[in-house]
Order: sequence, then structure tokens, then C-alpha cells
Amino acid sequence: MTHVITSLCVRDRGCIEVCPVECIVPGQPADGWPMMYIDPDTCIDCGACVPECPFAAIYPEDEVPAAYTAKGGEYINKPSLTGHYEGSNHHGKTVVLETTRQLTAGEVVDLTSDIQVNSDFFKSGPGYSSKDNDQGV
Ligand code: SF4
Ligand code: SF4
Repeated sequence: MTHVITSLCVRDRGCIEVCPVECIVPGQPADGWPMMYIDPDTCIDCGACVPECPFAAIYPEDEVPAAYTAKGGEYINKPSLTGHYEGSNHHGKTVVLETTRQLTAGEVVDLTSDIQVNSDFFKSGPGYSSKDNDQGV
């Protein structure tokens, strides 16, 4: 088992520094890999990252919602989206994303496809090499 970062992630980075096995990686380039990703082969399922996420984007793999009901106003963040997000991350740096969409209250979204996305990031995507290009946002 692993934990999974879902597309509710808007790169706050609060999770990264608490991971005891350093398996949370900021996606680069951000337009193609706009979230943070958990390496499923390294995650020890400790759960330390979950309470650190202000956007409640992290779930144990078997609890990733197939029918997430939006509170309204939260963003999803995927390469296929074109909406604008601007916020301040855990370190006070400005985060700008052009790959988002704001959810409406009561809207239901399936987040389970993000399980494969986390895996693909490490298997066929940039994986840990993204850390070399990390800009801190
Ligand atoms: S704390 Fe949450 S929003 Fe921030 S990078 Fe981690 S998963 Fe993404
Ligand atoms: S569950 Fe633990 S090991 Fe896995 S990504 Fe979160 S902090 Fe790291």
C-alpha cells in the first residue's frame, strides 16, 4: 500500500518535509506534472503527510474517493485544465498554476485516476530527477 496525492494538490509543499523517507517529489515541468507525487515503491504508509496538507489532498490508496463531493471553491489541478490559481505556499512563496479548475459546491469528482498518475510520474515520467529542477514552488 501507499499514500496517494490527488489532484486537489496545489503545491503547498507542507507534506514534503515531514516525509521520513523523502518520497514526495514536486513535479517538473509544472505544466506537465503540476502536483506533488508520492513514490508508491518507497512510501512506508506512515500517514505523517496527511494532516500537513491544508487542502486535504492526500489519501491512503484504498481510500481515494471515487465520488469526492466538493465543498465548493477548492481547486483540482491537472495538465488538461486551463484555469488560473494563485496562492501562497507553506514557505510563503507565491504559487501560480494555469492547470486548474475551481469546483462548485456539491459537484462530484472521481479522484481514483490519480493513483495511476502518482505511479506513472516515477515509472515513465521525470520522477526523482524533478528534484534537480526544483524552484521551491
Ligand atoms: S501539502 Fe497538500 S497541497 Fe501541498 S504539496 Fe502536499 S499534497 Fe499538495
Ligand atoms: S505516508 Fe509517510 S512515507 Fe508515505 S508519503 Fe506520506 S509521509 Fe511519506
